[in-house]
Amino acid sequence: MALVSAKEMLEKARDGKYAVGQFNINNLEWTKSILQTAEELKSPVILGVSEGAGKYMTGFKTVAAMVKAMIGCLNITVPVALHLDHGTYDGCYKCIDAGFSSIMFDGSHFPIDENVAKTKELVSVCNHLGLSLEAEVGAIGGEEDGVIGRGECADPEECKKIADLGVTMLAAGIGNIHGKYPADWPGLSFETLAAVKEKVGNMPLVLHGGTGIPTDMIKKAISLGVAKINVNTECQLAFQEATRKYIEEGKDLVGKGFDPRKLLAPGAQAIKDTVKEKMEIFGSIGKA
Ligand SMILES: [Zn+2]
Repeated sequence: MALVSAKEMLEKARDGKYAVGQFNINNLEWTKSILQTAEELKSPVILGVSEGAGKYMTGFKTVAAMVKAMIGCLNITVPVALHLDHGTYDGCYKCIDAGFSSIMFDGSHFPIDENVAKTKELVSVCNHLGLSLEAEVGAIGGEEDGVIGRGECADPEECKKIADLGVTMLAAGIGNIHGKYPADWPGLSFETLAAVKEKVGNMPLVLHGGTGIPTDMIKKAISLGVAKINVNTECQLAFQEATRKYIEEGKDLVGKGFDPRKLLAPGAQAIKDTVKEKMEIFGSIGKA
């Protein structure tokens, strides 16, 4: 199956009261693990690529070519969207050019009028090309490629301004944070989520920083209109832990344990297990 826009899968998720996971990719192992799990579980999936990860993989064109080829070689039949995560204005155009099927323009650090103007332009471009577009209002806390915030909450009026431009999905800060959550994190602000939902109507909402949010909060957020949840750090931690264990147990020193295909296998399996666990919580299994 060719790459698809995230529009249809998110509208179905919103109506069916479940969420589609966005899992960020870093390399071939990450991509393969996520695609195989989505196919096994018959779940739609969004592959997220940050600008940093795109650069690491030598460029968005390499990423798009790899993902498209892998979908073919692995006979993936579930809907897959290839999505730019937290795109800059220039990054959005680079990904559109490279053949991504979905784009996030993160104009949350611009004054609202500038965010509106740039988002509006990208809505028109993405509509023309049949791509889905995610916009963001209000900083989400934590660190994303070096940008740090504090679990801020979005202004529902500003959310309405951006949603009314015709974006496909909207990320609004509701106290969520990128990366690991601090021990004294007060939790998601469901008041903010409900206020945003009231202003934006049917718009599928996106929850960033999905790593470490308690399951009951995730489920409540989905019941209040969240249709896409971003997971990044959790796969990284699972990969790290499994790889560390392999080496600490000295398995790399036994036989051909140094073979990169063996060395990276436990980490790849850990990513699969994490993706499966998330898809179970999000309710997307069997929805493809
Ligand atoms: Zn994010």
